Amino acid sequence: MPDAPPAMPRSLWAATAPPAPPTAPLRGEARTGVAVIGAGYTGLSAALHLAEAGIPCTVLEAAEIGWGASGRNNGQVIPTLSRADPDAIVASVPRELGGAEKGEALVGLIRDSAALVFELIRKHGMRAEAVQNGWLQPAHRPSRMRLVESRVRQWARRGAPVRLLSREEMAALAGSGHWHGGWENPTGGRINPLGFARGLAGAAIRAGAVVHTRSRVTALAREGTGWRLATPEGALRAERVILATNAHTPPGLWPGLHRSVVPVRSYQMATPVLSDNIRGTILPGGHALSDTRGDLHFFRFDAEGRLVTGGGLILPLGWEGRIRRRIGARLARVFPQLGEVRFDYVWWGYVGGTADRLPHVYELAPGVLAWTGCNGRGVALATALGRELARASAGVPAREIAAPVETRLRTVFGHRFRALGIAWQVARNRWNDRRD
Ligand SMILES: Cc1cc2nc3c(=O)[nH]c(=O)nc-3n(C[C@H](O)[C@H](O)[C@H](O)COP(=O)(O)OP(=O)(O)OC[C@H]3O[C@@H](n4cnc5c(N)ncnc54)[C@H](O)[C@@H]3O)c2cc1C
Repeated sequence: MPDAPPAMPRSLWAATAPPAPPTAPLRGEARTGVAVIGAGYTGLSAALHLAEAGIPCTVLEAAEIGWGASGRNNGQVIPTLSRADPDAIVASVPRELGGAEKGEALVGLIRDSAALVFELIRKHGMRAEAVQNGWLQPAHRPSRMRLVESRVRQWARRGAPVRLLSREEMAALAGSGHWHGGWENPTGGRINPLGFARGLAGAAIRAGAVVHTRSRVTALAREGTGWRLATPEGALRAERVILATNAHTPPGLWPGLHRSVVPVRSYQMATPVLSDNIRGTILPGGHALSDTRGDLHFFRFDAEGRLVTGGGLILPLGWEGRIRRRIGARLARVFPQLGEVRFDYVWWGYVGGTADRLPHVYELAPGVLAWTGCNGRGVALATALGRELARASAGVPAREIAAPVETRLRTVFGHRFRALGIAWQVARNRWNDRRD
């Protein structure tokens, strides 16, 4: 008997998202044009765009639609990377991968990525609780306003409709005097993340894609001019392959790919539905918010009025009690009007980290594509990169893809000791957050 696939973890989103479209495991032998491994935003966006271009494709998912980061995240739709700003992104692309021109193409992809998510939700009528009222990034220290000003300048130069906010403006939009000003990108917002994953799957299936759940790919091997993907109950032959497994990439699926990304736990939690009185005082404009800290403070409401937040821990030991206390104390500091805070839902997921905090798109072999490294900002990015992977699989040359396409894997040094590296990084983030 093959191992039973893991069930969908308990979370706010699992409790509130509309049901997934019906799917079944792959049984027996099948053929397709493009095989997509993983049914998160990357895989499902790739499948939707392939199917809309008339290219046969089949998604194989080990567990359920949105089982990975795509069904567990905070649902903040953010058109930026977590660390690198546009100038740094442009400077990071070496000449042999397209240099500044390719860097600007990637910046353009990120700039338009949140708009793409909301456009797909509208176009396909997805029930994803989408609210495109903007994303806020407040500065957690007065000195961080310099970083904020530089961000606003860099994005404005690339045509993003960004706005600098004074301390008073931010206090009014956040419903808290905790921060020192900040900036806004009105193309961002919030969604029910599992609702979006399930909506993407429904749209992809309607467009002609095939999606098999409970179909873990156990082996991927060359066969003739194409590839053979083995699952516990079947096999799929495909001309091309997209590996959309990101932070959940298992060792052995492709040599070294799992070492290109470090899975870092991010804890999520949701309060009970808050009273209208309290709700009206916190994020009254319906924004999503994540601040400038490395140990990120992030908040948003869901459709029914629960405040959805979370954080990181240095060590996972005894995580549930510790994260409840830590984030409870944080909420009391940032939004004292909340009074005593309870959490009805607490869950966690893996964010995919890379050493340089940048996403990397790979052509692992002719016709085999992958990307890793959302570094915590992947709702919009994975959706947009999924589209680019679909274009590349459809034969669009690498020079026209809006991201550098690398052929050599960038594995993370010391990957085997990643638990230590993560603990050190979280501690270092907290230390840096207290300094100017
Ligand atoms: C807790 C948390 C909070 C976050 N909050 C935000 C946020 O608010 N805003 C934001 O922009 N980003 C956020 N992110 C990041 C964002 O969720 C991810 O970048 C994005 O969902 C990645 O999508 P993906 O499709 O690439 O990967 P995933 O959604 O992780 O999908 C990978 C899939 O591959 C499948 N898989 C693995 N191995 C196999 C195999 N052998 N065969 C078949 N299938 C396989 C897995 O089961 C999984 O479903 C957060 C992430 C986490 C974990």
